[in-house]
Amino acid sequence: MSCKERQLRYYTEQSSRTKIKSLIFSTDALQYVCTIFHHIIGIILPMKRKALENSFIADAMLGTLTRWLRLAGVDVEYDKQIDDDTLIKRAMYSSLVILTRDRSIAKRKDVPDHLLIWSNHLPEQVLEFIQVFEIDTLESAFTRCIRCNTLLEEVEKDSLEGQIPPYVWKTQNEFRRCNNCKRIYWAGTHRENAESFLRKVIGNFKE
Ligand SMILES: [Zn+2]
Repeated sequence: MSCKERQLRYYTEQSSRTKIKSLIFSTDALQYVCTIFHHIIGIILPMKRKALENSFIADAMLGTLTRWLRLAGVDVEYDKQIDDDTLIKRAMYSSLVILTRDRSIAKRKDVPDHLLIWSNHLPEQVLEFIQVFEIDTLESAFTRCIRCNTLLEEVEKDSLEGQIPPYVWKTQNEFRRCNNCKRIYWAGTHRENAESFLRKVIGNFKE
């Protein structure tokens, strides 16, 4: 190797080391900036709570939202006849988060943990909900009775003979039943449409 070649190789190696060093530094610096940014955002915007780790009670005006949240697996109590005082007492007694469209409920000083829903339309109501309570998975979807909130149990097809429509009997093999209201659930077009709505409106699921 000539003297010139050796010199060139030396400069090339030095230059690569500097590049690697500056790359390592910039990665560390970037991580540091991200950590600071994350802390600042955490202070400014409260972190989202996990919907599936909380239990809710909805007021009489949120029947449709209740059914859709139950479809996603969220635990939501609902009684169309419930009065405000009973709703609040029930929430306090069982540590439930109140979902309400009623501003007079949200303003009350004795109201515990609650979320005031402003919109009258389902997609916006879902968006308002997920801005505070994150639903990041569909793992628990279709595990809860949408009529009464009870967790569904898998049931053998043979035990349901004569209880389900013939077309469903021919085309479906997996069934779940609510042991409270006895409603039977199976996969089908309704479920596909529901899943598509949940994916579209809620989005960002872990697969
Ligand atoms: Zn049920």
